[in-house]
Amino acid sequence: MGDSRLVYLDHAATTFTNPEVVEAMLPFLKERFGNPSSLYAPARAARIALENAREQVAKALGAGPEEIYFTSGGTESDNWAVLGTAYAGRKQSRHIITSSIEHHAVLHPCKYLEKQGFEVTYLPVDREGVVYPEEVEAALRPPGTSLISVMYANNEIGTIEPIPELGKIAREHGIPFHTDAVQVIGKIPLDLKRKHADVDMLSLSSHKFYGPKGIGALYIREGTKLDNYMHGGGQERGRRAGTENVAGIVGLGKAIELATRDIEKHSAKIQKMRDRLLAGILEIPLTSLNGHPEKRLPGNLNFSFEFIEGEALLLLLDQAGVCCSAGSACSSGSPGPSHVLLATGLAPEAARGSLRLTLGDANREEDVDYVLEVLPGIIKKLRAMSPFYRP
Ligand code: PLP
Repeated sequence: MGDSRLVYLDHAATTFTNPEVVEAMLPFLKERFGNPSSLYAPARAARIALENAREQVAKALGAGPEEIYFTSGGTESDNWAVLGTAYAGRKQSRHIITSSIEHHAVLHPCKYLEKQGFEVTYLPVDREGVVYPEEVEAALRPPGTSLISVMYANNEIGTIEPIPELGKIAREHGIPFHTDAVQVIGKIPLDLKRKHADVDMLSLSSHKFYGPKGIGALYIREGTKLDNYMHGGGQERGRRAGTENVAGIVGLGKAIELATRDIEKHSAKIQKMRDRLLAGILEIPLTSLNGHPEKRLPGNLNFSFEFIEGEALLLLLDQAGVCCSAGSACSSGSPGPSHVLLATGLAPEAARGSLRLTLGDANREEDVDYVLEVLPGIIKKLRAMSPFYRP
């Protein structure tokens, strides 16, 4: 302890911005400041950059550029997909299906809709956080369901959901299907023309794949009916008003191009480090892994340590220079146990003693050695202080 080293193991919360991305953005914060809607030369440069970024995002997803809409990030994309589809279809149906482990950016708009008379089915998950296609079938409700929204991979426990199968059910019943893919860009190859041809809307957020914060996109398949979310100017073909965050969009375009260049090789490298960390941590007594053992994101680990308070653990890890989180970053300010861990059937005490470590490009093998060196001692120290623990 007292070590000045810093080990960043919170890539699911956010990532550093790739220096190449920063370089690509800089001209648009300096001399190329024009408003893309204006008609003179510097503005045209901004407009061209914007459309180039749209092409980059489309290419990374196997989509058409006309299906990409820039937003302020994952939260806005999720809100737009959920609220926009619900409002567009409300004359026919007021029923939405989602999962109980979604990010709050999906769950809270659903709660908001419930207050307006919509009915929402929150699908259960199994012990490992998997949503079952049969549960979706069983939840379908005549005369119709206006939206099915299930995340591609969970931000806390890393479990990957069977999105192509779920999409197929939605398509068979003519129901729009949305997936929050915020955690999967650069980790799972996406192809909206083939493997993911039944996905109608997909959310992404640049700061999860080494791009800038406050910028994201919503993919909307041509023909999908949803109301606009931001009202005002005619930007984004009249569907998402507001002067574009040009530098952010350029950064998003560059970041997605870099992140999706060689997904398999990159994921294998991260997973190798992750698996060594996993094996080492599981040697600590009374420790269990949360989430699915195989169907999980390559950089994700989530543990429950019996007789441990997650907050205290985070504090001591922070003192040792290790940055990670208990539950999701967005909810770490709230004292309750994680809704995701509870949905997997974990007891509240076990959920409170959970730790999420997410690896990425900031990590080297030495980081794994360091965590394996400090963590067992910290757990031992905290357990020694617990009134319930008997060695
Ligand atoms: N969805 C998921 C699965 C996330 O992990 C996050 C961020 O943690 C979001 C949505 C929200 O994205 P943003 O931070 O860009 O608003």
